[in-house]
Parts: sequence; structure tokens; C-alpha cells
Amino acid sequence: MSWRAARRSWSEHPDSDRLIAHVSPHAPYSAHPRLIVKAAKWAYRHGKRWGIHLAETVEELDLLATGGGPMRDFLGDFLGRNWRPSRLVALEHLAQISWPRACPPLLFHANHLTAREFDLAARLGVAVVHCPGSHRYYGRTTFPLAEFLSRGIPVFLGTDSLASNQRLDMRREVRLLVEMHPEVGCEAALRMAGRDAAAWLSGAAAPVGLTPGAPADLWWWRLPQSRGLAGPTEALLERLLSTSEASSEVWIAGQAVPARRNLNLYSSP
Ligand SMILES: [Zn+2]
Repeated sequence: MSWRAARRSWSEHPDSDRLIAHVSPHAPYSAHPRLIVKAAKWAYRHGKRWGIHLAETVEELDLLATGGGPMRDFLGDFLGRNWRPSRLVALEHLAQISWPRACPPLLFHANHLTAREFDLAARLGVAVVHCPGSHRYYGRTTFPLAEFLSRGIPVFLGTDSLASNQRLDMRREVRLLVEMHPEVGCEAALRMAGRDAAAWLSGAAAPVGLTPGAPADLWWWRLPQSRGLAGPTEALLERLLSTSEASSEVWIAGQAVPARRNLNLYSSP
């Protein structure tokens, strides 16, 4: 999508209860540094966030470092005749571009960072979006979750697209994260998909969670045989994540949404 088309899309779909637009120049190898700066400045000016797919595969690192490898063959002419590798690792490539430092990006994936890049990520104030379903789809090695969390770098959950995932289902993403990183626990994993991510995206400008003034966006589940589970929250959440039941009700901005219209982002409830 061109910058002009992106701007048209924002004006056609202004922010609503259903949809809040942010911006993502795709990746360091596919987005020109000028486009990255443009997108980041737009985000900064409008109180938005920006994100970029970064260090998802070793082939991508190879492309940035050498200009060759299987990804070069795969992308072919797409990169254009004037494209040159920066000869840097992915986050160092991004760090030498002059996007506004007060508006750090979300890094999608960030599967393959060097020790120096983990420290750089902390200094830049970025957050990371891990996509457990996509990670499993490609059979990738373990995501370096502890490396980020130990440096205070927030990690949130996402789905990536259907090109690299079986379903776009955030509850499944939470379940997969807990399966792959049981030390995290259900409660913290759900926060990574919901409240903590919402707070970071809004820059703490809006209340989130079960707080007065926060949007009443709610999922309801009726859990069979949940009577005996009044005890630890973790056991209840485990049941919530593993049930095959569809949600009983969805509320957006305080109003129940008819089941068949749940997925339509553009219609009002
Ligand atoms: Zn991606």
C-alpha cells in the first residue's frame, strides 16, 4: 500500500469503538528509511503507535547483512534495482534511521536478536509483539521471552496474518503462549494480549481494564462445571483458555453485539 493509499484508508475509516488505526511500515528490508520516518512521524503527531516486522527469520538477517541469500531470490525484483543492504543486524539498521525517539516502535516477531540488540531494544524503549500461532506454524525455535522480560521490555501477543497462522484467534494465541512458556501463567499471558497491550498502545492516555471510564469491551464465557473452581484464578483461567465453547456474548462499548456481526469491524453495534 502506498503512503497516499494509507492516508486515504485512514480518512475512510476514522477511529471508532470498533477500530483504532495505527501504522506499520512493513519491514526494514521492504520499507525505505524515508517511509519509516514518515510513518513514525505521523504516529507521533497523531498520538498513535507504529510497528515494524523485524528479525523474524535468519534469512531476513542474511539479506540485510549481505544483500544475498534465499530471501533475495524469493523477493526478486520487488526490492528494486537501487536497493542496497545496510550490512547491519536488524535492530541496528532500524536504530540508524532518524524516527522520533519519543515514539518508539512495536517490533513484530523479533525472534533473532543479538545480545547487543536486546540491550539496544531496552534503551530505545520499544515493545515486542510475539505471535505464538505463527511461531508454531513455522516450527521456529523457542521465542526469547525471558531475554526481553528480564530487561523490562514489554512483550504483547498478536496473530500475524492468515498467511502464517491457522486462525486469527487471540484466545488461542494466549493458550499457545502458556503451552510454550508455562512459567508465564494464564493471568500474565492474558494481560499480554489485553490490558497491558491496550495501555501501551494508548500511551496511558485512556483508562483500560475494569476501571471507571474504560471502554466496556467484554467477552463472556459460560464455563460448564465451573462451580468448584471458585478457588485460584489460575485454574479458572486455564479452564477459560481450554474450553472449546464459543463465547456466550460479546460486548463492545457497553453494548451486546449480535453473534453473527461480532467480526464486522466497521459496523456499529
Ligand atoms: Zn510478520
